[in-house]
Amino acid sequence: MRRLLINIGGYKGEGIDIDKVLHDIAKTAGATGWKTLPITDALQGYERTTEGGKANVYISAGIHGDEPAGPLAVLELLQENTWPADVNLWLVPCLNPRGYDLKTRENEDGIDLNRDYRTPVAPVVQAHRAWLDARPKFDLTLILHEDWESNGFYLYELNPHQRPSIAKDIVSAVKEVCPIDLSPVIEGRDAKDGIISPNAEVLKRKDWPESLYLVHNKTPLSYTLEAPSDFPLVTRVQALCRGVQAALKALAPAT
Ligand SMILES: [Zn+2]
Repeated sequence: MRRLLINIGGYKGEGIDIDKVLHDIAKTAGATGWKTLPITDALQGYERTTEGGKANVYISAGIHGDEPAGPLAVLELLQENTWPADVNLWLVPCLNPRGYDLKTRENEDGIDLNRDYRTPVAPVVQAHRAWLDARPKFDLTLILHEDWESNGFYLYELNPHQRPSIAKDIVSAVKEVCPIDLSPVIEGRDAKDGIISPNAEVLKRKDWPESLYLVHNKTPLSYTLEAPSDFPLVTRVQALCRGVQAALKALAPAT
């Protein structure tokens, strides 16, 4: 599978009707046992907990409006409905719907929401942080993104306490459906076999993305999955779905 080579200087691929996708997500979530937990009047989060759940996992997508595969992967995962029975799940499918209408990374006010988590300016990030604070601690967080510049799938691992890594489990599952970016340097950071493990310096960054709020406040282990948006959309959606499912399986192996 080769790059499409249409994404030069930015994402030029297809967009999505985010309101329709979010409507389908709400419908599918409601039909498969998820509870609605509103973030704002306009934005929903979801919860699916089970008595005696062994682990807490948070999954989010849709913070950058030029990355359509994330919300589509959330819909696909809900439709497949193959969640592990003994894991408690929280799900945020989209934090930037108007960015999707505009096909911009930023929201309608020009703010990159994924740099706003330390001292939030955007009301949606303030609301999202409050929503996260009201949830229990997570054992694992998975954040779904896309990168129009990359030669394949890759991920960022934030694992400051050296918990057992599941990065290789994720990458080897994704490799079945999507090329992996094997570059030794991705986005200016050292990478190996599609895995970027940023050093401790990253934790001191001032412009916190969602993942840094999570590792500082909610979780010891966070993965940001980056699908390559210069590949067909169906491939990117599959990459994110297989990555999430492999992570859940690695965290809570069936007994
Ligand atoms: Zn992104």
